[in-house]
Amino acid sequence: MPFVQSSGPEFLKLETDQTLPREVDVAIVGGGIIGVSAALTLAQRNVKVALFEKGLIAGEQSSRNWGWVRLAGRDLRELPLMLRAHELWGEMNALVGDDTGYRRCGILYASMTSAARERHTRWAAEAARYGIASHILEPSKLAAFAPGLTRQVAAALHTPADGRAEPQRATPLIARAAITSGAQIFQDCAVRTIDVEAGRVSGLLTEHGRVRASSVIVAGGAWSRLLLKGIGVTLPQLKVLSSVYRTLPIEAGIEPCMSFSSFAIRKRMDGGYTVASSSESVAEITPDTLRFFAKFLPAYLAERKGLTLRLGRAFIDEALRWQPRDADRPSIYEAIRILDPKPHQANIQRVHRALVEALPAFRGVGTAQSWAGMIDTTPDAIPVISSVSERPGLVVGTGFAGHGFGIGPAAGEMLADIAIGRTPLSDPHPLRFSRFTDGEKLHLQHWL
Ligand SMILES: Cc1cc2nc3c(=O)[nH]c(=O)nc-3n(C[C@H](O)[C@H](O)[C@H](O)COP(=O)(O)OP(=O)(O)OC[C@H]3O[C@@H](n4cnc5c(N)ncnc54)[C@H](O)[C@@H]3O)c2cc1C
Repeated sequence: MPFVQSSGPEFLKLETDQTLPREVDVAIVGGGIIGVSAALTLAQRNVKVALFEKGLIAGEQSSRNWGWVRLAGRDLRELPLMLRAHELWGEMNALVGDDTGYRRCGILYASMTSAARERHTRWAAEAARYGIASHILEPSKLAAFAPGLTRQVAAALHTPADGRAEPQRATPLIARAAITSGAQIFQDCAVRTIDVEAGRVSGLLTEHGRVRASSVIVAGGAWSRLLLKGIGVTLPQLKVLSSVYRTLPIEAGIEPCMSFSSFAIRKRMDGGYTVASSSESVAEITPDTLRFFAKFLPAYLAERKGLTLRLGRAFIDEALRWQPRDADRPSIYEAIRILDPKPHQANIQRVHRALVEALPAFRGVGTAQSWAGMIDTTPDAIPVISSVSERPGLVVGTGFAGHGFGIGPAAGEMLADIAIGRTPLSDPHPLRFSRFTDGEKLHLQHWL
């Protein structure tokens, strides 16, 4: 497969279908890792499925992320699903017939303070109850994983079963496997709206025509809120900008993914490292920020040290353009085929300085490229993987809050199960859509 050249990272370009079906069993909106994983599972089960992507498969978050496949520090409510994801990743290369870059290299989170060490210790104890082997490394043991490390830490949380995969390869390869298994996938095919008849979802309207379906899965990443708003369904979802860079190839001798708060690194298949900060991000203030202010306040308070709130053009832009429109006319989904925000250069420079200070081997190693991605998040920072009782036939898989790549294959499987009425392998209740309205007290878990 050739690579797409873009201002973001280069990713594998998939050849896809042109002629729309009139009717399918399940239609999927969004060709990120969640949508394509759902398509793969459905096709493997001989369900007639079509996926519609407004731009290119993996054009948004799914090619822009760090590529960490982790249990470490996850919200406990996600652990059963993530354990299943680990099983699926283990079989992935054989299944897709190519190298997704998946390696079980382990993940280390440095405990920068004694309070962090205590939190990490508690997480490891909780994780043990799920059969997960994760342990605290004393600082003296860290040098074996990070040669030349100069940074003082209180400890590190080490999860050997964790791993990494190559975001610029994995999602297109999973999509290709879905096609081989019988799914139809369409690119440059925006879904303008979801069709609803007598309160029930009946299909969707794309820019190239209408497709009937008994079930529609919305896996639209940062766009899910808008698409659902178009059919009167309110999803509390906001977006956060996260910036990344990659280095030129270097023999640093570091295999596991590692986070030191001010920087985090992951070895790439091309011999370089993907580098970013796990503690810095930017949120544009938009009308939705105000609308969901109360729901997101705990998340904001928890993240406020590293979160820059910006008031700029995005406010007006979203107020005027990010609105449901008459479906007979071209939509914003066609105007913005790929959400490609500019990276925050000051953030990238800070991260680079922190990296070379802590690991001098990186001094003088060139930056090959930088990019950013728009992370979609929910008030409790766990996704929605759920049907929606007020719209029978609608299934939502979104809000992965910056950690949907690793869990993606299992999340797609769960969505597929829900769409065809099969009991998922783990309990989807904590991830239900109705938790935002049924009186549950939303809460965040902070382990990292
Ligand atoms: C910088 C960064 C670092 C990250 N690091 C990690 C990590 O290390 N590990 C991890 O597990 N996760 C990580 N994540 C999070 C992870 O990338 C996402 O959670 C995951 O990719 C979400 O997948 P998705 O399919 O939901 O969304 P996306 O990949 O964003 O895909 C959604 C797709 O839907 C399409 N779409 C939307 N609306 C329409 C429409 N109306 N019609 C047709 N198509 C539509 C979009 O074009 C898009 O391609 C990171 C994210 C970022 C941005």
